[in-house]
Amino acid sequence: MASAEFKLIADYFTHGFPQRPEVALSVGDDAAVCHVPEGMQLAITVDTLVAGVHFPLETSAEDIGYKALAVNLSDLAAMGATPAWMTLALTCPEVNQTWLGEFTQGLRGLAEFAQVSLIGGDTTRGSLTITLQLMGFVPFNQAITRHGAKVGDAIYVTGMLGDAGLGLAAVQQQIQLPKVHHDYVVSRLNRPTPRLAAGTALLGIANSMLDISDGLAGDLGHILKASKVGATLDLACLPLSESLRTQISLTEAQRLALHAGDDYELCFTVPEAKIAQLDKALAGTHFTRVGTISAEQGLRIRSATGQIQTLHAQGYTHFGQPVVCGDQQFNVSSYSFSPTAELHITQTPPNN
Ligand code: ADP
Ligand code: MG
Repeated sequence: MASAEFKLIADYFTHGFPQRPEVALSVGDDAAVCHVPEGMQLAITVDTLVAGVHFPLETSAEDIGYKALAVNLSDLAAMGATPAWMTLALTCPEVNQTWLGEFTQGLRGLAEFAQVSLIGGDTTRGSLTITLQLMGFVPFNQAITRHGAKVGDAIYVTGMLGDAGLGLAAVQQQIQLPKVHHDYVVSRLNRPTPRLAAGTALLGIANSMLDISDGLAGDLGHILKASKVGATLDLACLPLSESLRTQISLTEAQRLALHAGDDYELCFTVPEAKIAQLDKALAGTHFTRVGTISAEQGLRIRSATGQIQTLHAQGYTHFGQPVVCGDQQFNVSSYSFSPTAELHITQTPPNN
């Protein structure tokens, strides 16, 4: 490795991250050496963010650093796990001190909050790509999986849905929003809140859980498939922020809540008998009941007037429907799915 890269590691990745007692050897040797506390299992997740694919090219380095860790923390939260260590494989086109300083600041801020040690990684030259692997602990055999949903379970989500989808449309300049709403939805896109406390609070309460990265409809579909059950969602119950409620039509807001990506909220199912326990465990976290697990397979959406529409499997993966906002029209797409080329704004034809 070139000395510039050694210096880069020494300058940015050797100090300033939380230290943890289970880490015997950290950055600087051929491998890190750690132990898993008694009674715990290791939960491991990894996510790669590619510039221009998983985040817009103009995203600030600090937001990229934050989001690289946030999306992984969200995955661990969705297992009921507590984060502990991370490794970072960073590929960047050049050694840009300003960029690296800001990237590390975003990463370190969230690592500090979540008490995650940086125990190793790899540094290479190439197109900007960040691969972050996160490890955490979950009590033995208690991880909350996608396959545990039972008929009759209530379905819940944390926070608000669809904000990041509107944020993406805003940064792509597909839609112009008043500053206060623009800032809010863009912050939900770039700085999602990993629901760590909620995730661990649901241990022993939720039968199944995942984090919503690709839209509630598609992600809940993963739980339904793994658990071999169906569900009905109540459209009127979807939690919509003031920005979604006031800046686009209700239909469009609900479509974003169901199909747009990048929200990183938790979706989980709880048996009726544990609902009182749930209310206590999540006191202080915003969460909403959005539906019920049923024996009948498939995902049904119940409108406010009681009409039921079945979402078919292809509805989970086809997120290209345009959303209309006044005379503007934009595509509901997530960076996880769509290259930037698909995210252009299309003007609604005058006779449409
Ligand atoms: P090796 O060639 O033995 O894999 P490297 O020269 O790639 O070692 O890395 C030296 C040390 O720096 C290792 O401990 C590695 O884990 C750590 N490291 C390299 N890049 C990063 C990074 N981006 N973040 C954190 N640690 C890193
Ligand atoms: Mg290496």
